[in-house]
Amino acid sequence: MLRRTKIIATLGPSTDDPKMLDKIVKAGVDVVRLNFSHQTADIHKKRLQKLRDCAKANGRTIGVIADLQGPKIRTESFRDDKIELSEGDTFTLDAAHPSDAGDQECVGITYKQLPQDVLANDTLLLDDGRIVLRVKKVVGTKIICKVIIAGILSNNKGINRQGGGLSAEALTYKDRADLATAASMQVDYIAISFPRSAQDIHEARTLLQAAGGKAGIIAKIERAEALTNHEEIIKASDAIMVARGDLGVEIGDANLPPAQKLLIKKARDLNTIVITATQMMESMIENAIPTRAEVSDVANAVFDGTDAVMLSAETAAGKYPDKAIKAMDRVCIEAEKQAIVRKSGHRLEHQFGRIDEAVAMAAMYTANHLNIKAIAALTESGATTLWMSRINSGIPIFALSHYQCTRTKVTLYRGVYPIEFDEENQVDSLQINQFIVNELKRRGAISDGDLLIITKGDLKGISGGTNSMKIVCVGDQ
Ligand code: PGA
Ligand code: MN
Repeated sequence: MLRRTKIIATLGPSTDDPKMLDKIVKAGVDVVRLNFSHQTADIHKKRLQKLRDCAKANGRTIGVIADLQGPKIRTESFRDDKIELSEGDTFTLDAAHPSDAGDQECVGITYKQLPQDVLANDTLLLDDGRIVLRVKKVVGTKIICKVIIAGILSNNKGINRQGGGLSAEALTYKDRADLATAASMQVDYIAISFPRSAQDIHEARTLLQAAGGKAGIIAKIERAEALTNHEEIIKASDAIMVARGDLGVEIGDANLPPAQKLLIKKARDLNTIVITATQMMESMIENAIPTRAEVSDVANAVFDGTDAVMLSAETAAGKYPDKAIKAMDRVCIEAEKQAIVRKSGHRLEHQFGRIDEAVAMAAMYTANHLNIKAIAALTESGATTLWMSRINSGIPIFALSHYQCTRTKVTLYRGVYPIEFDEENQVDSLQINQFIVNELKRRGAISDGDLLIITKGDLKGISGGTNSMKIVCVGDQ
């Protein structure tokens, strides 16, 4: 059975070992995330090249997300990479401290205005709330704090103020430079951190277009304001991320599960892709198996209808990146067998705005009501398969495209699998049918006697031109 929910793995030091990179590709990672909060653009370029080589060697199509740091306020680095704080310690965040010389008493911070934004008695949450500091006083560039909840603090960890409301803008100077770098790396998606409104997404899109990038834009929902403005943000974006790390700090952890359900449902209704992220297999940073709670969390995200589940430190800095992917894989596959994610309401109450959308919906309705084994959509932009993937089903949707950028983009869509298709060599529709049948047979998706749906347009090379659907009995060509 093909897994429908896509797995995103963040690349990092743990996946730099070529053997481990090969293992995660073989374990079935669909999309990788380059996290621009860490490391230089140069390192990301090298990682991406190695990943692309490895994917090619394994015959796999893997999508790429460049995740911009955003105005995330982070600690800078420690001289020895990490320190251990104890309860009651005095610890200082200093905007003027050298960026690579944090120590037991003090560490630098990325957002130099933070001392102006906080007051005595504010609560600061570090590393997604694992460490809690209370502000004692602010003296010039120094925020002098008392440690309330202690633990290990390593390089570049996030800082949030409880309740949110810091003044920083969504796209920093560094983000603008990284966005241009990411465009030149031809990534498939760029994730915008801490957007507050649709305006932030429009601005990112304008910058991306100016840089010549074709990437889709992912809005990370991780501020209280973004949750309030979720509908306009979803409409402005190609995908959203339920960024539970920062969102949980801003709105309180107990409010996360309902927010996750709301965001996933809204994104699907508005034909947008949705990623569920952060701490999904957290204990696997250290352990070879997940906790029962983590297993349930991943399965519940699948039940909610997420397109993708994401691994962060589990793969970037953990001990078992390949095992974390395998654990997600088996949990998703089992969850996807449940009737609740296969039954669809089929948008019976909707009017369709476009011919290609209507064909996509007709194909899904037919597929779910006739004994169809697979759907093959000839697509320029991938739009037909995006609509199809919004409908619950257990039937695989193959996106046949001549464009590499379409094939890598659909790696994020639930239940959609890319196939290279060179239209120049397929002159008539019988040849096209034959090519599709051969390709799907080779992948074990169909065999003689099975029914297959094919959607296509009359004219080649026209985006949005899908105007027909046919049902083919395999073996009758
Ligand atoms: P991050 O975003 O990993 O870049 O912080 C995800 C989140 O906040 O959950
Ligand atoms: Mn975040």
